[in-house]
Amino acid sequence: MTARQDVYDAVDARRDEVVTFLSEFLRIETENPPGRNYREGAAFLGNALAERGYDVEYVEVPEAVVERHYPDRTAYERVNVLGRKSFGDGPNVHFTGHYDVVPAGADWTRDPFAAQLESGRLYGRGASDMKSGIAASLLAIDALEAAGIEFGGSITQSMTVDEETGGFTGLGYLVREGHLDDTDYCVYTECFDSSRVCLGHRGVLKFRVVAHGRKAHGCMAQDGTNAISAMSDFLTRVEEHREELHRRTTDLPVIPEGSRRADISATMVDAGYSENVVPDRCTATFYRVLVPDESVADARNEIRERIAETEANVGASLDYEEIMFAEPTSVPRDCEVSQTYARNVAAFHGEAEFVISPGSDDQRFVVNDAGVEECIVYGPGLLDQAHVADEYVPVEEVLTAAKVMAVSTAELVGDLTR
Ligand SMILES: [Zn+2]
Repeated sequence: MTARQDVYDAVDARRDEVVTFLSEFLRIETENPPGRNYREGAAFLGNALAERGYDVEYVEVPEAVVERHYPDRTAYERVNVLGRKSFGDGPNVHFTGHYDVVPAGADWTRDPFAAQLESGRLYGRGASDMKSGIAASLLAIDALEAAGIEFGGSITQSMTVDEETGGFTGLGYLVREGHLDDTDYCVYTECFDSSRVCLGHRGVLKFRVVAHGRKAHGCMAQDGTNAISAMSDFLTRVEEHREELHRRTTDLPVIPEGSRRADISATMVDAGYSENVVPDRCTATFYRVLVPDESVADARNEIRERIAETEANVGASLDYEEIMFAEPTSVPRDCEVSQTYARNVAAFHGEAEFVISPGSDDQRFVVNDAGVEECIVYGPGLLDQAHVADEYVPVEEVLTAAKVMAVSTAELVGDLTR
Protein backbone atom coordinates (compact mmCIF):
# COMPACT_ATOMS: atom_id res chain seq x y z
CA MET A 1 0.00 0.00 0.00
CA THR A 2 1.34 3.43 -0.91
CA ALA A 3 1.37 6.29 1.54
CA ARG A 4 -0.86 8.22 -0.84
CA GLN A 5 -3.51 5.48 -0.79
CA ASP A 6 -3.29 5.31 3.00
CA VAL A 7 -4.13 9.01 3.14
CA TYR A 8 -7.06 8.63 0.75
CA ASP A 9 -8.38 5.70 2.79
CA ALA A 10 -8.02 7.68 6.00
CA VAL A 11 -10.16 10.45 4.45
CA ASP A 12 -12.83 8.00 3.28
CA ALA A 13 -12.90 6.32 6.71
CA ARG A 14 -13.97 9.66 8.19
CA ARG A 15 -16.95 10.21 5.89
CA ASP A 16 -19.62 9.88 8.62
CA GLU A 17 -17.55 11.92 11.03
CA VAL A 18 -17.18 14.82 8.59
CA VAL A 19 -20.91 14.75 7.73
CA THR A 20 -21.73 14.96 11.45
CA PHE A 21 -19.25 17.77 12.00
CA LEU A 22 -20.43 19.77 9.00
CA SER A 23 -24.10 19.25 9.90
CA GLU A 24 -23.58 20.62 13.41
CA PHE A 25 -21.60 23.52 11.95
CA LEU A 26 -24.36 24.34 9.43
CA ARG A 27 -26.93 24.48 12.23
CA ILE A 28 -25.13 27.45 13.80
CA GLU A 29 -26.78 30.42 12.11
CA THR A 30 -23.81 32.69 11.42
CA GLU A 31 -25.66 34.99 9.04
CA ASN A 32 -23.85 38.09 7.86
CA PRO A 33 -25.10 40.73 7.64
CA PRO A 34 -25.47 41.39 10.45
CA GLY A 35 -22.97 38.87 11.86
CA ARG A 36 -25.02 36.73 14.19
CA ASN A 37 -23.86 33.93 16.52
CA TYR A 38 -20.15 34.40 15.91
CA ARG A 39 -19.38 33.62 19.56
CA GLU A 40 -21.12 30.26 19.24
CA GLY A 41 -19.47 29.54 15.87
CA ALA A 42 -16.04 30.39 17.27
CA ALA A 43 -16.53 28.15 20.31
CA PHE A 44 -17.63 25.26 18.08
CA LEU A 45 -14.54 25.64 15.89
CA GLY A 46 -12.18 26.28 18.81
CA ASN A 47 -13.38 23.04 20.44
CA ALA A 48 -12.88 21.12 17.20
CA LEU A 49 -9.31 22.42 16.98
CA ALA A 50 -8.56 21.73 20.66
CA GLU A 51 -9.85 18.15 20.38
CA ARG A 52 -7.35 17.66 17.57
CA GLY A 53 -4.46 18.96 19.60
CA TYR A 54 -4.12 22.42 18.09
CA ASP A 55 -3.17 25.38 20.28
CA VAL A 56 -6.22 27.60 20.04
CA GLU A 57 -6.37 31.37 20.11
CA TYR A 58 -9.54 33.45 19.87
CA VAL A 59 -8.86 36.79 18.21
CA GLU A 60 -11.54 39.26 19.22
CA VAL A 61 -11.87 42.41 17.16
CA PRO A 62 -11.99 45.58 19.29
CA GLU A 63 -15.21 47.56 19.02
CA ALA A 64 -13.37 50.60 17.65
CA VAL A 65 -12.17 48.54 14.67
CA VAL A 66 -15.65 47.13 14.08
CA GLU A 67 -17.06 50.63 14.23
CA ARG A 68 -14.65 51.87 11.56
CA HIS A 69 -15.84 49.26 9.06
CA TYR A 70 -19.39 48.45 10.16
CA PRO A 71 -20.62 51.42 12.23
CA ASP A 72 -24.19 50.10 12.39
CA ARG A 73 -23.22 46.64 13.63
CA THR A 74 -21.13 47.23 16.74
CA ALA A 75 -23.69 45.34 18.82
CA TYR A 76 -22.41 42.09 17.35
CA GLU A 77 -19.17 40.48 18.53
CA ARG A 78 -16.45 39.66 16.01
CA VAL A 79 -14.48 36.52 16.97
CA ASN A 80 -11.86 34.88 14.77
CA VAL A 81 -10.26 31.55 15.62
CA LEU A 82 -6.67 30.42 15.12
CA GLY A 83 -5.36 26.92 15.70
CA ARG A 84 -1.76 25.90 15.39
CA LYS A 85 0.00 22.59 15.56
CA SER A 86 3.74 22.23 15.29
CA PHE A 87 5.49 19.11 14.01
CA GLY A 88 9.02 20.48 14.06
CA ASP A 89 11.08 23.06 12.24
CA GLY A 90 10.02 23.77 8.72
CA PRO A 91 7.51 25.70 6.68
CA ASN A 92 4.17 26.83 8.09
CA VAL A 93 1.13 25.85 6.03
CA HIS A 94 -1.87 28.02 6.78
CA PHE A 95 -5.42 26.98 5.87
CA THR A 96 -7.97 29.73 6.18
CA GLY A 97 -11.72 29.98 5.66
CA HIS A 98 -14.63 32.19 6.65
CA TYR A 99 -17.47 30.87 8.77
CA ASP A 100 -19.97 33.66 8.18
CA VAL A 101 -22.68 32.92 5.63
CA VAL A 102 -24.95 35.20 3.61
CA PRO A 103 -28.51 35.51 4.95
CA ALA A 104 -30.59 32.46 4.08
CA GLY A 105 -33.19 34.52 2.24
CA ALA A 106 -36.54 33.32 0.95
CA ASP A 107 -37.34 30.66 -1.68
CA TRP A 108 -35.87 27.68 0.17
CA THR A 109 -37.82 24.46 -0.16
CA ARG A 110 -36.19 23.16 3.03
CA ASP A 111 -34.98 24.59 6.33
CA PRO A 112 -31.70 26.41 5.53
CA PHE A 113 -30.31 25.60 8.97
CA ALA A 114 -31.44 21.99 9.42
CA ALA A 115 -28.51 20.43 7.51
CA GLN A 116 -30.38 17.68 5.67
CA LEU A 117 -28.46 14.92 3.93
CA GLU A 118 -30.14 13.64 0.80
CA SER A 119 -28.70 11.58 -2.06
CA GLY A 120 -25.14 12.36 -1.00
CA ARG A 121 -25.79 16.10 -0.83
CA LEU A 122 -25.70 18.06 2.40
CA TYR A 123 -28.11 21.02 2.26
CA GLY A 124 -27.79 24.24 4.24
CA ARG A 125 -26.80 27.89 4.01
CA GLY A 126 -23.00 27.85 3.94
CA ALA A 127 -22.73 24.23 2.76
CA SER A 128 -20.71 25.30 -0.29
CA ASP A 129 -19.80 28.87 0.72
CA MET A 130 -17.93 27.78 2.70
CA LYS A 131 -18.27 25.77 5.87
CA SER A 132 -17.36 22.68 3.84
CA GLY A 133 -13.97 24.27 3.10
CA ILE A 134 -13.25 24.52 6.81
CA ALA A 135 -14.41 20.92 7.34
CA ALA A 136 -12.17 19.72 4.50
CA SER A 137 -8.95 21.32 5.77
CA LEU A 138 -9.50 19.91 9.27
CA LEU A 139 -10.20 16.49 7.78
CA ALA A 140 -7.11 16.68 5.56
CA ILE A 141 -4.74 17.04 8.50
CA ASP A 142 -6.62 14.42 10.55
CA ALA A 143 -6.12 11.96 7.68
CA LEU A 144 -2.41 12.74 7.32
CA GLU A 145 -1.87 12.07 10.99
CA ALA A 146 -4.00 8.91 10.96
CA ALA A 147 -2.03 7.59 8.00
CA GLY A 148 1.17 8.15 9.93
CA ILE A 149 2.66 10.61 7.44
CA GLU A 150 5.67 12.37 8.90
CA PHE A 151 5.93 16.03 8.36
CA GLY A 152 8.03 18.89 9.55
CA GLY A 153 6.91 22.46 9.99
CA SER A 154 3.56 23.47 11.32
CA ILE A 155 -0.07 23.66 10.36
CA THR A 156 -2.19 26.69 11.09
CA GLN A 157 -5.94 26.73 10.60
CA SER A 158 -7.83 29.98 10.86
CA MET A 159 -11.57 30.54 10.73
CA THR A 160 -12.68 34.09 10.24
CA VAL A 161 -15.76 36.31 10.17
CA ASP A 162 -17.20 38.97 7.90
CA GLU A 163 -15.86 37.81 4.53
CA GLU A 164 -19.31 38.33 3.08
CA THR A 165 -19.10 42.02 3.97
CA GLY A 166 -15.48 42.69 3.00
CA GLY A 167 -13.38 40.70 5.47
CA PHE A 168 -11.80 43.72 7.19
CA THR A 169 -12.64 42.42 10.67
CA GLY A 170 -11.91 38.82 9.68
CA LEU A 171 -8.88 37.72 7.71
CA GLY A 172 -8.02 41.38 7.07
CA TYR A 173 -7.73 41.87 10.82
CA LEU A 174 -5.62 38.73 11.35
CA VAL A 175 -3.22 39.94 8.66
CA ARG A 176 -3.03 43.42 10.14
CA GLU A 177 -2.27 41.98 13.57
CA GLY A 178 0.60 39.94 12.14
CA HIS A 179 -0.95 36.48 12.43
CA LEU A 180 0.14 35.57 8.90
CA ASP A 181 3.67 36.94 9.08
CA ASP A 182 5.30 33.51 9.38
CA THR A 183 3.11 31.85 6.73
CA ASP A 184 5.01 30.02 3.99
CA TYR A 185 2.07 28.51 2.11
CA CYS A 186 -1.52 29.60 2.37
CA VAL A 187 -4.64 27.86 1.12
CA TYR A 188 -7.87 29.81 1.33
CA THR A 189 -10.55 27.14 1.20
CA GLU A 190 -13.30 29.13 -0.57
CA CYS A 191 -15.70 27.43 -2.99
CA PHE A 192 -14.34 26.94 -6.49
CA ASP A 193 -15.10 23.23 -7.05
CA SER A 194 -12.51 20.57 -6.22
CA SER A 195 -11.32 20.61 -9.86
CA ARG A 196 -10.13 24.22 -9.86
CA VAL A 197 -7.12 26.05 -8.48
CA CYS A 198 -7.97 29.73 -8.12
CA LEU A 199 -5.04 32.12 -8.47
CA GLY A 200 -6.66 35.45 -7.71
CA HIS A 201 -9.60 37.74 -8.22
CA ARG A 202 -10.64 40.95 -9.90
CA GLY A 203 -10.79 44.07 -7.76
CA VAL A 204 -13.80 46.08 -6.72
CA LEU A 205 -14.55 49.71 -5.91
CA LYS A 206 -17.98 50.49 -4.51
CA PHE A 207 -18.87 54.14 -4.17
CA ARG A 208 -21.71 56.62 -3.97
CA VAL A 209 -22.03 59.96 -5.74
CA VAL A 210 -24.31 62.63 -4.33
CA ALA A 211 -25.39 65.49 -6.58
CA HIS A 212 -26.40 68.70 -4.77
CA GLY A 213 -28.65 71.23 -6.51
CA ARG A 214 -31.24 73.75 -5.32
CA LYS A 215 -34.86 72.99 -4.57
CA ALA A 216 -37.67 74.84 -6.39
CA HIS A 217 -41.35 74.49 -7.18
CA GLY A 218 -41.85 72.65 -10.46
CA CYS A 219 -43.77 75.61 -11.89
CA MET A 220 -40.79 77.88 -11.22
CA ALA A 221 -38.07 75.39 -12.08
CA GLN A 222 -35.83 78.19 -13.34
CA ASP A 223 -35.16 79.12 -9.69
CA GLY A 224 -33.72 75.70 -8.88
CA THR A 225 -30.86 73.44 -9.90
CA ASN A 226 -32.14 69.97 -10.61
CA ALA A 227 -29.96 67.34 -8.94
CA ILE A 228 -31.43 64.63 -11.20
CA SER A 229 -30.26 66.53 -14.28
CA ALA A 230 -26.79 66.79 -12.75
CA MET A 231 -26.78 63.07 -12.04
CA SER A 232 -27.99 62.37 -15.55
CA ASP A 233 -24.96 64.22 -16.93
CA PHE A 234 -22.69 62.15 -14.69
CA LEU A 235 -24.40 58.88 -15.62
CA THR A 236 -23.84 59.63 -19.30
CA ARG A 237 -20.13 60.08 -18.63
CA VAL A 238 -20.10 56.82 -16.66
CA GLU A 239 -21.67 55.03 -19.65
CA GLU A 240 -18.93 56.39 -21.93
CA HIS A 241 -16.32 55.38 -19.37
CA ARG A 242 -17.87 51.90 -19.32
CA GLU A 243 -17.21 51.40 -23.03
CA GLU A 244 -13.59 52.39 -22.46
CA LEU A 245 -13.33 49.95 -19.53
CA HIS A 246 -14.65 47.09 -21.64
CA ARG A 247 -11.60 47.52 -23.86
CA ARG A 248 -9.36 46.88 -20.82
CA THR A 249 -9.29 43.10 -21.10
CA THR A 250 -7.12 40.54 -19.36
CA ASP A 251 -5.50 37.33 -20.60
CA LEU A 252 -5.76 35.83 -17.13
CA PRO A 253 -8.29 32.97 -16.80
CA VAL A 254 -11.13 34.92 -15.17
CA ILE A 255 -14.34 32.88 -15.05
CA PRO A 256 -16.83 33.29 -16.63
CA GLU A 257 -15.05 34.38 -19.81
CA GLY A 258 -17.37 37.36 -20.24
CA SER A 259 -15.80 38.83 -17.09
CA ARG A 260 -12.28 39.11 -18.57
CA ARG A 261 -12.49 42.89 -18.65
CA ALA A 262 -12.91 45.93 -16.44
CA ASP A 263 -16.45 47.19 -15.90
CA ILE A 264 -18.67 49.67 -14.11
CA SER A 265 -22.37 49.55 -13.29
CA ALA A 266 -24.71 52.09 -11.74
CA THR A 267 -26.56 49.95 -9.18
CA MET A 268 -28.94 52.25 -7.26
CA VAL A 269 -30.40 55.72 -7.83
CA ASP A 270 -32.43 57.72 -5.34
CA ALA A 271 -33.92 61.20 -5.60
CA GLY A 272 -37.06 63.27 -5.30
CA TYR A 273 -39.73 64.41 -2.85
CA SER A 274 -42.84 64.92 -4.88
CA GLU A 275 -43.87 65.24 -8.52
CA ASN A 276 -43.98 69.03 -8.23
CA VAL A 277 -40.62 69.64 -6.52
CA VAL A 278 -37.31 70.14 -8.33
CA PRO A 279 -35.00 67.99 -6.19
CA ASP A 280 -31.87 69.38 -4.60
CA ARG A 281 -30.30 65.97 -4.05
CA CYS A 282 -29.74 62.82 -6.09
CA THR A 283 -27.72 59.83 -4.94
CA ALA A 284 -26.38 57.00 -7.08
CA THR A 285 -24.22 54.02 -6.16
CA PHE A 286 -21.74 52.32 -8.45
CA TYR A 287 -19.92 49.02 -8.70
CA ARG A 288 -16.60 49.29 -10.50
CA VAL A 289 -14.72 46.06 -11.25
CA LEU A 290 -10.95 46.10 -11.83
CA VAL A 291 -8.88 43.62 -13.78
CA PRO A 292 -5.53 42.56 -12.30
CA ASP A 293 -2.98 45.28 -13.23
CA GLU A 294 -5.47 48.08 -12.63
CA SER A 295 -5.29 49.85 -9.28
CA VAL A 296 -8.01 51.26 -7.06
CA ALA A 297 -6.16 54.60 -6.87
CA ASP A 298 -6.31 55.01 -10.66
CA ALA A 299 -9.95 53.91 -10.78
CA ARG A 300 -10.82 56.47 -8.11
CA ASN A 301 -9.03 59.23 -10.03
CA GLU A 302 -10.90 58.38 -13.21
CA ILE A 303 -14.19 58.80 -11.35
CA ARG A 304 -13.10 62.08 -9.76
CA GLU A 305 -12.19 63.46 -13.22
CA ARG A 306 -15.69 62.70 -14.48
CA ILE A 307 -17.23 64.27 -11.40
CA ALA A 308 -15.25 67.45 -12.11
CA GLU A 309 -16.42 67.43 -15.73
CA THR A 310 -20.07 67.19 -14.65
CA GLU A 311 -19.62 69.97 -12.09
CA ALA A 312 -18.11 72.23 -14.73
CA ASN A 313 -20.86 71.37 -17.19
CA VAL A 314 -23.99 71.69 -15.02
CA GLY A 315 -23.02 74.04 -12.19
CA ALA A 316 -24.02 71.62 -9.41
CA SER A 317 -21.68 70.10 -6.87
CA LEU A 318 -21.13 66.34 -6.63
CA ASP A 319 -19.65 64.50 -3.65
CA TYR A 320 -17.74 61.25 -3.91
CA GLU A 321 -18.27 58.83 -1.00
CA GLU A 322 -16.39 55.57 -0.93
CA ILE A 323 -18.19 52.48 0.37
CA MET A 324 -15.60 49.73 0.03
CA PHE A 325 -12.64 48.70 -2.10
CA ALA A 326 -10.62 45.56 -2.77
CA GLU A 327 -7.49 45.65 -4.91
CA PRO A 328 -7.21 42.95 -7.57
CA THR A 329 -4.94 40.03 -6.74
CA SER A 330 -3.21 37.29 -8.62
CA VAL A 331 -0.33 34.89 -8.04
CA PRO A 332 1.66 33.11 -10.77
CA ARG A 333 0.35 29.71 -11.76
CA ASP A 334 3.86 28.26 -11.51
CA CYS A 335 4.25 29.05 -7.81
CA GLU A 336 4.94 25.96 -5.71
CA VAL A 337 1.64 25.69 -3.87
CA SER A 338 -0.33 26.12 -7.08
CA GLN A 339 1.66 23.50 -8.99
CA THR A 340 1.50 21.05 -6.10
CA TYR A 341 -2.27 21.35 -5.82
CA ALA A 342 -2.77 21.20 -9.61
CA ARG A 343 -0.81 17.94 -9.78
CA ASN A 344 -2.91 16.36 -7.07
CA VAL A 345 -6.19 17.67 -8.47
CA ALA A 346 -5.27 15.98 -11.75
CA ALA A 347 -5.41 12.57 -10.04
CA PHE A 348 -9.17 13.08 -9.59
CA HIS A 349 -10.21 15.35 -12.45
CA GLY A 350 -7.79 14.59 -15.29
CA GLU A 351 -6.47 18.12 -15.28
CA ALA A 352 -6.77 21.05 -12.89
CA GLU A 353 -8.38 24.19 -14.22
CA PHE A 354 -6.63 27.43 -13.22
CA VAL A 355 -9.07 30.26 -12.67
CA ILE A 356 -9.34 33.85 -11.47
CA SER A 357 -12.50 34.82 -9.57
CA PRO A 358 -14.73 37.51 -11.13
CA GLY A 359 -15.49 39.01 -7.70
CA SER A 360 -13.22 39.74 -4.79
CA ASP A 361 -12.48 37.73 -1.67
CA ASP A 362 -10.14 37.54 1.31
CA GLN A 363 -7.15 36.23 -0.70
CA ARG A 364 -6.07 39.83 -1.28
CA PHE A 365 -5.23 40.34 2.40
CA VAL A 366 -2.81 37.43 2.34
CA VAL A 367 -1.15 38.25 -1.00
CA ASN A 368 -1.29 42.06 -1.12
CA ASP A 369 -1.03 42.93 2.58
CA ALA A 370 0.85 40.04 4.22
CA GLY A 371 3.01 39.60 1.10
CA VAL A 372 2.52 35.83 0.89
CA GLU A 373 2.85 34.99 -2.82
CA GLU A 374 2.46 31.26 -2.19
CA CYS A 375 -1.30 31.55 -1.72
CA ILE A 376 -4.08 29.90 -3.67
CA VAL A 377 -7.79 29.41 -3.27
CA TYR A 378 -8.87 25.79 -3.25
CA GLY A 379 -11.95 24.23 -1.69
CA PRO A 380 -14.76 21.71 -2.07
CA GLY A 381 -17.78 24.04 -2.31
CA LEU A 382 -19.47 24.42 -5.68
CA LEU A 383 -19.14 27.92 -7.06
CA ASP A 384 -22.64 27.85 -8.55
CA GLN A 385 -24.09 26.97 -5.12
CA ALA A 386 -22.77 30.10 -3.42
CA HIS A 387 -25.56 32.36 -2.13
CA VAL A 388 -28.41 30.43 -3.83
CA ALA A 389 -31.60 28.98 -2.31
CA ASP A 390 -31.35 25.27 -1.40
CA GLU A 391 -27.55 25.53 -1.25
CA TYR A 392 -25.82 22.18 -0.93
CA VAL A 393 -22.43 20.53 -1.12
CA PRO A 394 -21.89 16.98 -2.40
CA VAL A 395 -20.22 14.98 0.40
CA GLU A 396 -17.96 13.38 -2.22
CA GLU A 397 -16.58 16.84 -3.12
CA VAL A 398 -15.62 17.43 0.52
CA LEU A 399 -13.73 14.12 0.58
CA THR A 400 -12.00 14.77 -2.76
CA ALA A 401 -10.88 18.26 -1.72
CA ALA A 402 -9.66 16.91 1.63
CA LYS A 403 -7.60 14.26 -0.19
CA VAL A 404 -6.03 16.88 -2.44
CA MET A 405 -5.31 19.12 0.56
CA ALA A 406 -3.82 16.25 2.52
CA VAL A 407 -1.39 14.90 -0.07
CA SER A 408 -0.47 18.43 -1.21
CA THR A 409 0.39 19.35 2.38
CA ALA A 410 2.46 16.19 2.70
CA GLU A 411 4.37 17.10 -0.45
CA LEU A 412 4.93 20.68 0.68
CA VAL A 413 6.11 19.99 4.23
CA GLY A 414 6.22 16.25 4.73
CA ASP A 415 7.27 12.99 3.22
CA LEU A 416 4.87 11.04 1.06
CA THR A 417 7.51 8.73 -0.33
CA ARG A 418 7.88 6.18 2.45
ZN1 LIG B 1 -17.29 32.63 0.61
